[in-house]
Amino acid sequence: MHIRRLIAVWSAHLIKWACRIIGKQGETLAGKAALFIDPGILTALAKEVRNSIIVVCGTNGKSTTNTLLASVLEAEGGKVICNRTGSNMLSGVASAFVLGAGAGGHLDADYACIEIDEASAVKVIPHFKPDCMILTNLFPDQLDRYGDMDAAMELLSRAIELAPKMKLLINGDEPVSAYLARKNQNPVFTYGIGAKVWECQDTKEIRAGQFCKCCGEKLQYRFYHYSQLGDYYCPKCDFRRPALDFDAAQVRFSEGMSFSIRDYRVETDWEDFYSVYNLLAVYSAAYLAGAPLKNFNQVLEHYKPPLGRNERFEIGGTNVMLKLAKNQVGFDQNIRALLTDPLPKDLIIVINDNSQDGTDVSWIWDVDFGRLGAANPASVTVSGIRCLDMCLRLKYAEMASEIEPDLETAIRSKLKDGAGNLYLLVNYTGLYAAHKILRRMEGKSDESYNRTSVS
Ligand SMILES: [Zn+2]
Repeated sequence: MHIRRLIAVWSAHLIKWACRIIGKQGETLAGKAALFIDPGILTALAKEVRNSIIVVCGTNGKSTTNTLLASVLEAEGGKVICNRTGSNMLSGVASAFVLGAGAGGHLDADYACIEIDEASAVKVIPHFKPDCMILTNLFPDQLDRYGDMDAAMELLSRAIELAPKMKLLINGDEPVSAYLARKNQNPVFTYGIGAKVWECQDTKEIRAGQFCKCCGEKLQYRFYHYSQLGDYYCPKCDFRRPALDFDAAQVRFSEGMSFSIRDYRVETDWEDFYSVYNLLAVYSAAYLAGAPLKNFNQVLEHYKPPLGRNERFEIGGTNVMLKLAKNQVGFDQNIRALLTDPLPKDLIIVINDNSQDGTDVSWIWDVDFGRLGAANPASVTVSGIRCLDMCLRLKYAEMASEIEPDLETAIRSKLKDGAGNLYLLVNYTGLYAAHKILRRMEGKSDESYNRTSVS
């Protein structure tokens, strides 16, 4: 049996090495091959993790939460395996363990931090029982892939049932996650922002989870943070925001952000409001895993974000910010972030409809593009496969846009004649294309390239 495991581990390493030579990632293939050779390998290797296996599920914020958690636990001296590249289906999860194993076929790890795609959790959890699942949020996403949000919720619920002792660490401000936690019998811990942060809440951001999942009544809110997140309660039954075990207090935005949690002041140059939740999730999970957390702010300072999570580039005197926005909640949050930058800016929006993006892009009609005008855009360019749909959508928001299907041409044009401040909002497959182009351009620029961490 052990011979089989050895062959699986060596094959996976060989595949990964070969893929790297031809410029491919190779994680998925390596994981697939390992599971084919030794179907029990994931179970066996997971048993060798000494302290905790923590998995991260949810619509938005998975990659940042997972990779930051791994960095925090490493800074505390732990050995961590993590699917940092974001390969989050069964084969990607398997490859994190298999490629983490040494030549003897064994793991040397204190923790495993594993991001799992919501629909894949039911396939992964039969292989091992995580100690903790972080559930970041559940928003409508890639509708044609999961059917709808209820279907995604059902799949997750089935996965959670398979691991009844697994701790659930949920975003208590988000009613769909709170309902899911209540529906299952697992031990539950909650994080959230207890007090109101914003005075004005006059936006049309979609509130997908606004009906009580217990009785169907419309939820009432004492206040919103964003989308369906806030202090909610059902007027008809006892469903309400649960008490928060990890409550971010005194949330402040001034040259970055800061908040207090359990006598610790988190301070960072990150600026997006939703990042408070990612940071909270990481802090809470590390706390539950028993990490002392003395160096949290220092880890934030040195953390490199995953691809496209607010990556900054400087190319020929233009500041370029690359932001992933793969669904309406992501877009609404990124528009909110644009509003905090008072400088004139050029904006390029890239919408693709490849299978990884979801072929149905009708969600762009739910985004509150009406607020874009207040962000002072010097120009808006639409690009990508569905640029015409995007152009039409902006027209209905009374905003003119230039159409340039070729992304590189669009970027070059704004670098040449733009405002010196360029934002790219891209959905999933556009992210890789944009990143590649920007990296290439930064290589050509004579100025040294500056990349700062944010989300
Ligand atoms: Zn109710």
